[in-house]
Amino acid sequence: MKTLSIIIPCYNEESVVELCYNRIKSVLDTLDLNCRMMFINDGSTDRTPLILNAIAQSDRTVSIIHFSRNFGHQAAVTAGIHHCTTDLAIIMDADLQDPPELIPQIIAKQEDENANVVYCVRKTRLGESKFKSWTAKKFYRTFNRISEMKFPLDTGDFRLIDARIMQEFNRFKERGKYVRGLISWVGFKQIPFYYERTLRQGGESKYPVKKMLSFASTALLYFSKRPLQIATGLGFFAVLIGLIMALWFIFGKMFGYTQAQSGWTSIMIAVIFFGGVQLLTIGVLGQYVGILFDEVKERPEYIIEKIINE
Ligand code: UDP
Ligand code: MG
Repeated sequence: MKTLSIIIPCYNEESVVELCYNRIKSVLDTLDLNCRMMFINDGSTDRTPLILNAIAQSDRTVSIIHFSRNFGHQAAVTAGIHHCTTDLAIIMDADLQDPPELIPQIIAKQEDENANVVYCVRKTRLGESKFKSWTAKKFYRTFNRISEMKFPLDTGDFRLIDARIMQEFNRFKERGKYVRGLISWVGFKQIPFYYERTLRQGGESKYPVKKMLSFASTALLYFSKRPLQIATGLGFFAVLIGLIMALWFIFGKMFGYTQAQSGWTSIMIAVIFFGGVQLLTIGVLGQYVGILFDEVKERPEYIIEKIINE
């Protein structure tokens, strides 16, 4: 019999985690597969770990990876994939925005088309703020325009992956992981599955604007050198303007159509403009140097406190 794991990252999800377990469990019971659930407790400070431990005690098919502190959603998903030993895995959020009832259809689709990845595409995003839906939509489209590779639009980490994909994923050494991008990057046969994203079933989003921005910048900087090209382009543009201005002033002086004394405005504009371009391009460069700094340290992506029912 084939084996399946459900990988669920959780951070302070005390209000939904038990419901999450129950709903997934009742779906898994109907499947003709050997199923496991793997919860990654990403350093929750509420009752999540207690609830998870109680579940794992009564159900041996549930394993829990406890992190030593909060390492973030992507690190939690990564740990799940690293520790997964089954033929198939489905990554899913704990808040039930991705309905577990879709699991049988996703698996059927994978079997029918013999795919390595079934990525779930959000047709709608219910109950999310206009701001979040709008920024997410814009992000995926801008990201595609800027990145060196095209990625499917409007997909989260909710997807099914097979052992081959996990094996390749485990070879990625980079610490700043944009999981959905990396899985796309691996290739093989990847097919979409369209669904309606529902409401969070309790608690609130663990992605405040700050985390969203850092997530978006990891995605962008790790998958594209375009910002550096834009910075270079800006530099060229500034040089061109500088040249034109230089010629204008030199000829002006020679033929007497500029008054050098009254040049305060043009000097200020040039100083501010070139200063701005320099700071901006240094800033972009700095972002990549920052990434190099983080990667070169080779710190682990996460620290595990303990694993239950490994
Ligand atoms: N999550 C996590 N660590 C974090 C933030 C979030 O493990 O630092 C988990 C969270 O518990 C949830 C999933 O990642 O299962 C997605 O988070 P959330 O639902 O808050 O994001 P949203 O759906 O609002 O984008
Ligand atoms: Mg959510």
